[in-house]
Amino acid sequence: MPEFCDVALALPLDTAFTYHITDGLEPVIGGRVLVPFRQQRMSGIVVAVHDRQPSVKTKDVLNVLDSTPVLDEQLLQLGKWIADYYLAPLGEVFRTMLPLSAEFKRAIAYRITEEGHLALHQAGMTGSSARSRRTPEEQLTLLSGMMRKKWIVREDFSGVRDAKRTTKVAILKSTDGKLNENQRLLVDTLAAAGSRVALEVLHTLDVPRSTLGTLVRRGLVEIAEEPEDFSVSGLKSRPALFDFQFNAPQQDALKRIREAVDSRTFSGMLLHGVTGSGKTAVYLAVMRAVLEAGRSAILLVPEIGLTPAMAADLHQVFGDEVAILHSSLSDQERAEQWHRIKRGEARIVVGTRSAVFAPVADLALIIVDEEQDSSYKQEETPRYHARDVAVMRAKMANAVVLLGSATPSLESYFNAKKKKYALVELPDRVEQRPLPEVEIIDMRQEFQETGHEQVISRKLAEEIKERLNRHQQVMVLLNRRGYSPVVLCRTCGKTLECKNCAIALTHHKRARKMECHYCGYTAPVPQHCIHCGSEYVYFIGTGSEKLEEVLHGLFPQARIGRLDRDTVRGREDFERMLSGMDAGEIDLLVGTQMIAKGHDIHNVTLVGVVGADMALGMPDFRAAERTFQLLTQVAGRAGRGGTPGKVVLQTYFPDHYAVQFAANHDFAGFYEKELRFRSWMHYPPYSALANVLVRSAKLDEALQWSGLLGKWFDKTRHEGIRVLGPAAAPILRLKQDYRYHFILKSPSREKLNALLRTMLAYAAQQKIPRTQVIVDVDALWLM
Ligand SMILES: [Zn+2]
Ligand SMILES: [Zn+2]
Repeated sequence: MPEFCDVALALPLDTAFTYHITDGLEPVIGGRVLVPFRQQRMSGIVVAVHDRQPSVKTKDVLNVLDSTPVLDEQLLQLGKWIADYYLAPLGEVFRTMLPLSAEFKRAIAYRITEEGHLALHQAGMTGSSARSRRTPEEQLTLLSGMMRKKWIVREDFSGVRDAKRTTKVAILKSTDGKLNENQRLLVDTLAAAGSRVALEVLHTLDVPRSTLGTLVRRGLVEIAEEPEDFSVSGLKSRPALFDFQFNAPQQDALKRIREAVDSRTFSGMLLHGVTGSGKTAVYLAVMRAVLEAGRSAILLVPEIGLTPAMAADLHQVFGDEVAILHSSLSDQERAEQWHRIKRGEARIVVGTRSAVFAPVADLALIIVDEEQDSSYKQEETPRYHARDVAVMRAKMANAVVLLGSATPSLESYFNAKKKKYALVELPDRVEQRPLPEVEIIDMRQEFQETGHEQVISRKLAEEIKERLNRHQQVMVLLNRRGYSPVVLCRTCGKTLECKNCAIALTHHKRARKMECHYCGYTAPVPQHCIHCGSEYVYFIGTGSEKLEEVLHGLFPQARIGRLDRDTVRGREDFERMLSGMDAGEIDLLVGTQMIAKGHDIHNVTLVGVVGADMALGMPDFRAAERTFQLLTQVAGRAGRGGTPGKVVLQTYFPDHYAVQFAANHDFAGFYEKELRFRSWMHYPPYSALANVLVRSAKLDEALQWSGLLGKWFDKTRHEGIRVLGPAAAPILRLKQDYRYHFILKSPSREKLNALLRTMLAYAAQQKIPRTQVIVDVDALWLM
């Protein structure tokens, strides 16, 4: 056995650490070892074993945790690629790739030894009489003193697993009888969420806890304990998946994908299918073919896409051969799924972002559904994009990567245009259902004609009324939750901001609080201006909660449901609301972009859009793309199942090309126009982009550090790379940190990464902590 090994530890440091291997231990590359680091013991991944004596003194490996690699050759290589591409510490990349933290929980206990008991006895002190009040520091000193005397020993139970988690839910049983205001609030909240809500959600409401108790005693509400398990949907059986015949474009797509898979060479494919064109059926068919060939496939889906209904579909098609990795798994369940996959018991893996790291053998296919979805980008270190990692993993495995979308990202569409990816199109909706008619309402004109700001235009109100009379369902999208987004004082003109962020607090009327949507800080609803004491405080603007109230006022007979992060906490809630819609228990569904991402709801014939263009006013080069995608997705909800649909699109930007092209269902037109803009402005896909953010809780520190880096960029040669900044980030203060940033654009990714690496080395030399300089390669979010 070689004498040394290099270990990557999950620390914000860009180096691996060398440890000495003592006799009898046999660490393997790609396996975990337990090592001392500073005052702690940490587990890390072995990246090399060798006999090169380092110049510094080494410590010993304490233990070998795996006798075989947990990361095989290819995954190790993928991890190194991610560390390199996203400039992330390798150990932190490995920690993200391995869901095994549950297997190594630190559990330390102290036990009194025989000698200790004897000493206690001799001193005449036993049991609880020995207790006295001491500070934690004094206790610690005392403890180590007693350990030195061997009166107490330290025992390590690391590896003990945590118990299965459960969660308490409140279930609405009845709404009969008189209710006081607080009781009404609870009952309404439950009803709005589809009769079932986690207790912790109800506890966020501003009502005494005893109110719930009263409702339980009266039999109106029941409390139940449910495992935080991701159970397969028992809500409603769905039609069998392979009942229908594939249409010609689906058959053609299937054939092309299968041929690519069978060739056992790398191939990137973009499946561009309009909403309702049957992409999911194609995915499942090709995954089944992979399974029948004895190979493996991974399907990545966006956060909200992995519903219990989808899990039911997957179980129906793949039985026990599917592993489903979703964010509500406990650490232990995640580890169990990981082992099932590693042992080859599950060769089909479906999951959100991190499922791209599933340890499958003989990988044939990775599918990335809704590849443009922003939940694929991790917004913490390592800031990887699962779609791009999927492409790289497929390349390393000589496999096929299939990116699917109705509204592909500019990057992927560009790659298809340049023939880097094969373009597969599904131009028809299944059963030839027509795309909905879209009518644009200019809200500036509406204001001129009616004399005041409208939430619902006259035209939309009229159309809703007509649908309700015909017993058809309506969806209304407003992509902003809460009641009012701004509180303004008419006397001094100031707004109420979060104490941690430079962001206005949103009024949540039902919960009677002001909330920051960025950090979660809450404050009481102000009666007076906190700046000048004036009582002329006004709540301005409309969120989904207010929209629901407005619609209640306009259509008192309609049963209205609301779908946003205040009414929906988990996938179960989400699905319950949608199935309530499907069962015809809701006439009108109001919500944020969540409603755009649901699956088929068959009776919706009208979609109203009352606020989807807010992003167009923001300083973000992806705003047009995001708006186009959202409008197209929500329009796709209208008119499925034989009845033609209609979309009424209210906007303050009626002439904006994103709005116009979405209204005309013209994907190609939008992409061409947007690509020209990106090309002029040197934005992706025409250049590689990175956002470098410098943050500190102290303003002068953030200014000083960004100033230092700014001067460094000025005097460093960086041919062809555009460096913008330092500038105050659009959100100057977030979660207590002041933020300044640089935007770097480069035609060469290699040069960009080389420059960023030298910059990080300079920052380290200037003693700027690594955690305070954030490098976000291919940043999606520049705020
Ligand atoms: Zn004021
Ligand atoms: Zn905040």
